[in-house]
Amino acid sequence: MAKITFIGLGNMGGPMASNLVKAGHEVTVFDLSKDAVAALVSEGAKTAGTAHEAANGAECVITMLPAGQHVEAVYLGDDGLLARLPAGTLVIDSSTIAPETARGVAEVARAKDIPFLDAPVSGGVGGAKAGTLTFICGGAEDAFNKARPILDAMGKNIFHAGDHGSGQVAKICNNMLLAILMAGTSEALALGVKNGLDPAVLSEIMKQSSGGNWALNVYNPWPGVMDGVPASRGYEGGFLVNLMNKDLGLAFDNAVKNHAAIPMGSLARNLFELHAGQGNGTLDFSSIQRLYKPE
Ligand code: NAD
Repeated sequence: MAKITFIGLGNMGGPMASNLVKAGHEVTVFDLSKDAVAALVSEGAKTAGTAHEAANGAECVITMLPAGQHVEAVYLGDDGLLARLPAGTLVIDSSTIAPETARGVAEVARAKDIPFLDAPVSGGVGGAKAGTLTFICGGAEDAFNKARPILDAMGKNIFHAGDHGSGQVAKICNNMLLAILMAGTSEALALGVKNGLDPAVLSEIMKQSSGGNWALNVYNPWPGVMDGVPASRGYEGGFLVNLMNKDLGLAFDNAVKNHAAIPMGSLARNLFELHAGQGNGTLDFSSIQRLYKPE
């Protein structure tokens, strides 16, 4: 079992750290939110007053932070963790950030002989709680092999996408597709209901037909169709519209840099930005259903 420091105990990081504790690892946590820290301490984790203190003596540091600027603030500069972590400490960042930000952090880590992996996840809060996340890693093979037994406690599918930044590239491609599928699923359900269909019956039909997809299978956006998903609790919790917009922005920026056409991704980005602009930024992203007025 490893000595692990986990920083960033939000919707995803909280349950991920909890699964590391349950697996028997010695986990020290840190977050700016005292409530988030207290929840993990009540489950058996230790804590410390600062990120540096929390990382003291760690064999592995894992971060799960909102965006690139938070990751840079935690790792880089004179006050960053990389300035003080000993060589050989395994560092895993599971936040979804730009590939070039991940490569920049990896570069600083490499100069200090600190193995670094970008390891963004897919599977949502449900997957984080159940320990069934998909990890998509970018970095050196030996760092990946070292990380694997630790990631196993939090995930079911652990992929090595390639060198530094590759995990983030795969992740932003996935989330662009997810946004397109969620918007499309919401649109199809709204059209069916306008025609008098029961959204639950239509969902079952599409699940077993060629329109079947992850949103229909485990994250139905129509209120009341599926238990335990954000749509059935006023779109609270889950994966925020603001975070989806961040990811669609990452996909858009990346497409511009690489001269890649992403017409569907651009449309999805505009739909989610419009939705956020109407005051829905802190709701779960399946609330895009409301653009099609189900309630
Ligand atoms: P969140 O906002 O719920 O949690 C982020 C946590 O980081 C908060 O508790 C915040 O207090 C903490 N934090 C911020 N800055 C900090 C700092 N400097 N030091 C310590 N703690 C700090 O976000 P989340 O939903 O858990 O998402 C985290 C990352 O995972 C994001 O990059 C997101 O895009 C990605 N992600 C989220 C989901 C999802 O379904 N929520 C799914 C896959 C990937």
